[in-house]
Amino acid sequence: MFSCQTPAEKNPAAPDRPEYALAIHGGAGTILKSDMTPEQDAEYRAALDSALTIGEHILLNGGTALDAATQTVVWLENCPLFNAGKGAVFTHEGRNELDAAIMDGNTQKAGAVGGVTTVKNPILLARAVMEKSPHVFLTGAGAEQFALENGLDTAGPEWFFTQKRWESLQKALEKEKEQAPQGMAPANPDHKFGTVGCVALDRNGNLAAATSTGGMTNKRWNRIGDTPVIGAGTYASNEACAVSCTGHGEYFIRYAVAYDVFARMTYGGLSLQAAADQIVLKKLVEKGGEGGLIAVDKTGHIAMPFNSEGMYRGYARPGERKTMIYGTE
Ligand code: ASP
Repeated sequence: MFSCQTPAEKNPAAPDRPEYALAIHGGAGTILKSDMTPEQDAEYRAALDSALTIGEHILLNGGTALDAATQTVVWLENCPLFNAGKGAVFTHEGRNELDAAIMDGNTQKAGAVGGVTTVKNPILLARAVMEKSPHVFLTGAGAEQFALENGLDTAGPEWFFTQKRWESLQKALEKEKEQAPQGMAPANPDHKFGTVGCVALDRNGNLAAATSTGGMTNKRWNRIGDTPVIGAGTYASNEACAVSCTGHGEYFIRYAVAYDVFARMTYGGLSLQAAADQIVLKKLVEKGGEGGLIAVDKTGHIAMPFNSEGMYRGYARPGERKTMIYGTE
């Protein structure tokens, strides 16, 4: 189990916080150094670094946390290495069903979509739901209709397809046949989660969180995970923090993990790090929920605890930038 604590640099204009702070994740799970070639390791780090550059550029130029989180996640969705957008995992039936959510800590407005199959960048659809609809959460065909009405780019199955994810599904189906002919074997038997997420604090002290995922390999029955459930996989409030989660979604929903970080800070008076660690390293472990989260608080502290072997992750603040994969770094 791993906890990552980083002190914040001071912002002369607002001494309580840095100019900006940004954190990203590309999923948690059984990510072991011994399973990675040096080339793969370098490829993931380069991708995380490029994603940080997208968000940092926006924040450095005075852009909003909301735009930084949105555009960083768009970049991660378009990167086939991660389980979101292009490169999403496959359902039992061999489809890509995508979930995403965004939350603006300033207004506490939120937008979320579940089970969409034709929208190129689900995070842009989540943002459109937040800004252009009276609702928070749209799913399936209705969400896709809303995407068309709002002129969002669509894509066919060939855009989302990657050989690696297809093979993971075949392996999962094989395992399922061996272990539980009735179809009750758990999805995602290799314990690799791959959601992407970004949390950001901007110059004006506004926070935002964005998360996007293909969910879990071999999911069925229009299963929707924690990612688009506000308070479970995604949450932001300027009062305290912005949070984006990755891991076994059912547990993150049951324990309202993202909101629980906020609640422990706000009602319990805990620091961001203590709140996030309590949930991920203690509560989820006791309950059997594997995964992690990234979070930034209103004063620019960043926490990224996870209880799995690894989590693709990174953060940037003025003068600081780091990308990490394994629990040992
Ligand atoms: N949390 C996501 C879900 O359960 C999966 C992941 O993080 O990879 O849908």
